[in-house]
This record gives sequence, structure tokens and C-alpha cells, in this order.
Amino acid sequence: MFCVKCGKEDETYDGLCIDCFLNGKELIVLPQHVDMERCASCEEFRISGHWVKKALREATEDAAVHSLSAVDGLRILSAGALPEEQDDRNFLVKVDIQGELCGRVVTATAETTVRVKNSVCQRCSRQLGNYYEATIQIRSGTKELSDDVRDDTVRYVRDRIENISSTNRHIFLTKVEEVQGGVDMLMSSISTAKSLAKELSDMYGAETKETAKLVGIADDGSNMYRVTYLVRLPEYHINDVVMFEGKAYKLSGIGKGNGKLTRLGDFHLMSVRRSQMNDMKVHTPYNELMKATVVSRSKKEIQILHPVNYSTIDVSIPEDADIGDTVNVADIDDTLFYVP
Ligand SMILES: [Zn+2]
Ligand SMILES: [Zn+2]
Repeated sequence: MFCVKCGKEDETYDGLCIDCFLNGKELIVLPQHVDMERCASCEEFRISGHWVKKALREATEDAAVHSLSAVDGLRILSAGALPEEQDDRNFLVKVDIQGELCGRVVTATAETTVRVKNSVCQRCSRQLGNYYEATIQIRSGTKELSDDVRDDTVRYVRDRIENISSTNRHIFLTKVEEVQGGVDMLMSSISTAKSLAKELSDMYGAETKETAKLVGIADDGSNMYRVTYLVRLPEYHINDVVMFEGKAYKLSGIGKGNGKLTRLGDFHLMSVRRSQMNDMKVHTPYNELMKATVVSRSKKEIQILHPVNYSTIDVSIPEDADIGDTVNVADIDDTLFYVP
């Protein structure tokens, strides 16, 4: 075929040889302006419908490249963008591409002005509006929740939510409220609250109870619920000295369905089922154990000063015990025991 323009005999596109076809043709097009939203609260940018965390210049590059349209048949192999700041809200971005068209490698350039527009992303608007879907209530089984345990559970939930939100930006902790008898943690997601309540239950040997409340109808007509997960902590905590079947133990571990006990005196290890753990009575909470000064040690014993009357007494220790200058001891019926 002959090119209708230059007369060259070659394969033709729309009647033109490849050179005449490509000559002056706009291979890529950018709109005059590209508006890019920036959340005024979290400062993330919305690019092709998604909120992303990026540096401003890099965001303008992405916004420009994502607004690019190419002529039919052009396969873009690579694209580069160069933003030039006009002022802090307007960037002239030049985009260069390399691509393949009709079996040839071609290059093309286009430019646009990326305008930065203030906005608020849905997550931030929800967070600012105290939006929540679920509550985890931490309560103690007996008396007041201790400050230590309250702080531990709040820290655990905060850390886990921070971790989960790094891959799912819709997950956030709305509020932490100290209430009579415990603490309430309000969060944006029912499924996250459910798994965190389960994790806390496994860690503390706690009972959980779930209650749902209808709060409205969603746009799609489905029922909207708020769910509360009550996590009722048992009286005992890990490392407490407990009495079980007439003997003293250290509660050395809590697993999914059981607890691990270390018997004081001979350090025999045993496992008890969750249901049996209800029979355990706390003798001394771990933060109330006495400290005794170590005078000397042998393989299976140490000599300590009695923390109350300062007499020297021998107590047995496990062979592999790591003994410092002081040790934790518990007074069980006027006998002191080393607590590993
Ligand atoms: Zn031609
Ligand atoms: Zn935001």
C-alpha cells in the first residue's frame, strides 16, 4: 500500500505510513487540571479513589500519571513524572512515557496542573464524629479492675489496632473511657472488636459475652448493629500465687483452654482446665509478693532474710533458677516459699 500523504510504499495505518501516522499525533493526553484531594486531618491523598499516605510531590506525580489517557493501541511501558511547584497548592507536572505502538518504540510527553484540594477522608470524618460500631468492656470478676490490668489491656488493644490499621485504614480506636468498675474501648469495626475480645479472653482466662443492639437501617436497607463485647476478667492473673486443691501454686501461664501451675516448694508443673480454674483462689497477687534478700545459695536451696522478722531461713529453689540479690517469696500459713 502507498501512503496517501508521502507516497511511500509500506504497511499503512488509516492510509498513512507509520512515519506519517505518528507524525504530530498526540499519543497521550492529560486533562488541563487534575484535582487531588488531601485530607486536612490525616494529610493523606486521594488518588484514583484510594486514600494513600505519600509525600506531596510524589502524590502529584501519581495523580498526573493516573489521569493519563493513551491513543488506541498504545501500550505504555514506562512513565515518569516531573512536578514543578507553582505554589503550595498547584504543581505543573510533566509526564514522559515510553510505549509501543504498531511494533515501534515511541515516546511522548504531556503536562497538566495538579491542584491540591482540601477535604476530609471518610475515616477521619468518622473518627472526628466519634463513630463506632463496637465496644470492648473490660471488667473485673470481683472488685475494682486494678490500674495495672486496666493499663495492660488498654495498651494491648491500642497496639493491636495500630498494627491492624496499617493495612486497613478503616480500623481505628474511637475512644477509651474509664467507667465505674472498668474501662470501655470504642472502635470502628465489629470484626476487629470480636477478635480482640477473643485474644484478651485467651490471655487472661476471661469470660466474654456478646450483645448486639439495633441502631438503625443502612442505606442498602440492612439492619445496623452496635456490638458490645464484655470481657470479664477472672480474679486471678498470670504470676499470682493461688491456692488449688489445698496447695499453693504460681499461675505461670494461661492458654486457650487451660492454665499452667507451678507448685511452690517442689516446682512440679501441672496443667488445669479452664473449668477447674474457677476453683483457684488468689492467695497473693503478683504485685503484692514480698521481696526477700538472698544471703547465700546452693544448688537446690537459698538462704534468705525473712522480710518481716529478718531471721535467716532456707527455702528450696529449682535447680535452673536465676537468683539475683532479692527474690519473690510468699507466706503460706507461716511458711515462706520461693516464688519462681
Ligand atoms: Zn507517509
Ligand atoms: Zn483523613
